[in-house]
Amino acid sequence: MERLLNMSRELDKIQTNLSKLAWVQYTVGYDFGIEEAHKKVNEFMQDKKNYELVLEYKEKSLDPINKRRAEIAYNYIKPYHLSNELNELNLKIKKKTNELSMVLNTFRFKLDGKEVSSVELTQILSNEENRELRKKAYFARNQINKSLIDAGFIDLINLRKEYALLYGDKDFVEHKLKLNELSPTIFDGWKDELKLHIDKLNNKRKEYAERFLNCDEMMPWDEDYILAKIAPAQNSTVYMSNYYEVLRKFFLKFGVDLDKFNITYDIFSRKNKSEWGYNFPIQNGVDSRILANVKNKYHEYGVLLHETGHGIHSFLLDPEEILLNDGVSGIISEGIANLFGGFLYDEMFYKNFFDNSVEKEFKEIGEFKKLNYLRFIGNIFFDHELYRNDIKSLDDIYDLYFNLYKDLFGDKPFEEEPPFAYRIHYTTHPIYMHNYFMGDVTCEMLRKVFCQKHGIKSISEKPMEFGEFLISDVIKVSGLYKYEELFKRISGEEFSLKWYLE
Ligand SMILES: [Zn+2]
Repeated sequence: MERLLNMSRELDKIQTNLSKLAWVQYTVGYDFGIEEAHKKVNEFMQDKKNYELVLEYKEKSLDPINKRRAEIAYNYIKPYHLSNELNELNLKIKKKTNELSMVLNTFRFKLDGKEVSSVELTQILSNEENRELRKKAYFARNQINKSLIDAGFIDLINLRKEYALLYGDKDFVEHKLKLNELSPTIFDGWKDELKLHIDKLNNKRKEYAERFLNCDEMMPWDEDYILAKIAPAQNSTVYMSNYYEVLRKFFLKFGVDLDKFNITYDIFSRKNKSEWGYNFPIQNGVDSRILANVKNKYHEYGVLLHETGHGIHSFLLDPEEILLNDGVSGIISEGIANLFGGFLYDEMFYKNFFDNSVEKEFKEIGEFKKLNYLRFIGNIFFDHELYRNDIKSLDDIYDLYFNLYKDLFGDKPFEEEPPFAYRIHYTTHPIYMHNYFMGDVTCEMLRKVFCQKHGIKSISEKPMEFGEFLISDVIKVSGLYKYEELFKRISGEEFSLKWYLE
């Protein structure tokens, strides 16, 4: 196996460099040669010698772990050895994605002609009593739609469609799912399962609209406001300069010491810095970096908990196991990250800031957020629609959007243009958002399986044991099995939304 491992180490070096360059681009806005670095990855992948080496191992009769290692290597190198045309298309796609991602990172929204940050828009959506102003802030986010289309978003979609067909897959959605070792049929039952819960969702939204808005419909620009009303404490101003100690103490309860890990945090806003939150898994078990934009609000700890969850996942993997680590499903990473993010409303974390008087509101908001998160399936399916329909203009995209949201949730179309392009995933991480939702399904499953095994109601009753369970039953084996296989190993059942909905 040594030669294959050496090859993977070499590739890891090139990818680590690329990841570091991306970190610089996202944190300070400079491009120190990302395209060049992408080219290096491409050259490596296209190298016939590397491909032959992988094929040699793939043909060998190996033990299951080595077989899995060879399979993972084969999965990532194979696409580069099908045809020159595919390779050229792939390079074009990466180039276009990089261009558009620069547009996304440097674009600034305006409100009444004045520049306004995404964080400020979010704050208006949460705190503004005037519904019209909230609506205005919500639709300010559609300003980037046209800029992105002008920069070539539809071309990018078409390039991806072309790539998938040339590859021999039915469409780009199926193509991406296969690359990520997921069954192309994984979403088949979702619409029907969702339908069973849509009345509950819409009735709850109606109930909150009546309680907080004196009307009977909750619109997208009311959601954050209502969440803020349900649990005002989550918008409390907290002192965040000591965030690291807060996080360190929290993770120690699970037996995980952040001081042993090399996690870099860049959490306060600046000009030319991406306005979102990310974890850059620069090199598993060696270097992990977290980008966020916090403004001293309690709920922003949710992002820090989530991204730190990614960080500890990376450091609990064996850095020598480069191949198996490449086989870890994005769903498992997001599941672990969301699991820790969810502690925002748990006493185990909130007691750093509040007494028990917040218990009721945090329980209520936790439950409503979970129910309302079903609407996130809209984003996932909208992403699919982009690749399954013919798109010529921005209006075509809006039609798809409105039809889908009507079909899934019974929404009426807006008079204004729906904000969509601000969500970077459509550009930079297509067919990826299911990782978050399925991650949540996974974390519900983990919670239920663990609690049942220990006869307890909440993880917080046995955090040390939970830490051990997470490390031994999930993280350590997360590269060894494909997602659906791992899910079944842990839960004893097939993946289904049922774990989330029931
Ligand atoms: Zn994440």
